[in-house]
Amino acid sequence: MSENEMPVCANCGNANHVILISTAKKAGTAVGGVSGAASGYFGAKTGAIVGGGVGSVVPVVGTGIGIIAGGIGGALAGFFAGAAVGNKVGEHIDRHIFREYRCNKCGTEFEI
Ligand SMILES: [Zn+2]
Repeated sequence: MSENEMPVCANCGNANHVILISTAKKAGTAVGGVSGAASGYFGAKTGAIVGGGVGSVVPVVGTGIGIIAGGIGGALAGFFAGAAVGNKVGEHIDRHIFREYRCNKCGTEFEI
């Protein structure tokens, strides 16, 4: 099964209305965003060493962009970079660990 293929609904057998329930994706986006913002902010304020220590989730991306943009700009850039990374990590967790899906046709939620 490829990354983008959806499973068939356990109840009605329809594959076209099944969506991934993105629990970890949402959490990952939020955590990644906050971590990235902190990383970018401190990276811009005090340099890559402190920024890298704070931004444990996205040290390279967050601090790298943070140093370039500086201050609040660094925090914002770090937030978006971190959120993007967290979003991808969370989606991976949802897709490969939780594996919970919902069918929008009949409303059934199921794990595979
Ligand atoms: Zn269904």
